[in-house]
Amino acid sequence: MEIPSRLAAIRDRMEGACRRAGRAPSDVTLVAVTKTRTVEEVASAVEAGVTDLGENRVQEAEAKYPSLASLEARDGSPPRWHLVGHLQKNKVKKAVALFDRIHSLDSVELGHKIDRAAEEIGKVQPVLVQVDLASEATKFGLPEADLLGTLETLTGLRRLRVDGLMALPPFVPDPEAVRPYFRRLRELGAEAFGRGLAGRELSMGMSHDFEVAIEEGATFIRVGTALFGPRLPESAKSTGPGPPSQGFGGSAEARRAEAE
Ligand SMILES: *Cc1c(COP(=O)(O)O)cnc(C)c1O
Repeated sequence: MEIPSRLAAIRDRMEGACRRAGRAPSDVTLVAVTKTRTVEEVASAVEAGVTDLGENRVQEAEAKYPSLASLEARDGSPPRWHLVGHLQKNKVKKAVALFDRIHSLDSVELGHKIDRAAEEIGKVQPVLVQVDLASEATKFGLPEADLLGTLETLTGLRRLRVDGLMALPPFVPDPEAVRPYFRRLRELGAEAFGRGLAGRELSMGMSHDFEVAIEEGATFIRVGTALFGPRLPESAKSTGPGPPSQGFGGSAEARRAEAE
């Protein structure tokens, strides 16, 4: 299948999920996750109507950006760039220069660094705070218990705009099994919003579970393989062609990549 028809299928599924949840389709933004994809693939997604692009590594975005800087979305504006993967402290300056939104703020220290980098270039940086809902030691994200305290500290940083929360729940093949995590993020988001500590955005849901995420309130879904097809696993690149990762494998792979 080509990217335009895959995009149409995703939009159909998004609309169906919105209808079931009584939500307006315009409340949900599709972030096309372009890691490992070529410049041509990314350009073709934007031509087909994608407005938001997600990368999970600063370096990869930096390498691709020059060839994509002149792209225009259908409305004539440039696509928005989202950092969806873990942000290392030594990449903060580059990330702030490149990305319209950072989905992976997960510590006060990182918040201070982003704030300083944004100050230097006269920018206010929209961010989402990543929450570690499953409390897995290998994972990035703030432990739930630290969330409100951290958000309170972050409100003092004038160059940060905390628009909401993000989560990357544990990978389980059955999307229904992830629903409780999405629901939990929504509850945490509502609590943070109620206390005036964050905006109402929720970044949750990937290729295999975005419909459930939308039903539970996602405002950004991060979709890679459903739009671009399977990614070749890293091992296949060095040892020659191997089995492509399954559509399902995306989440597991994102989590491995995140743990690097
Ligand atoms: C790769 C990635 C995605 C997209 O995963 P798919 O399963 O390909 O849709 C979403 N979020 C993050 C953080 C990722 O790294």
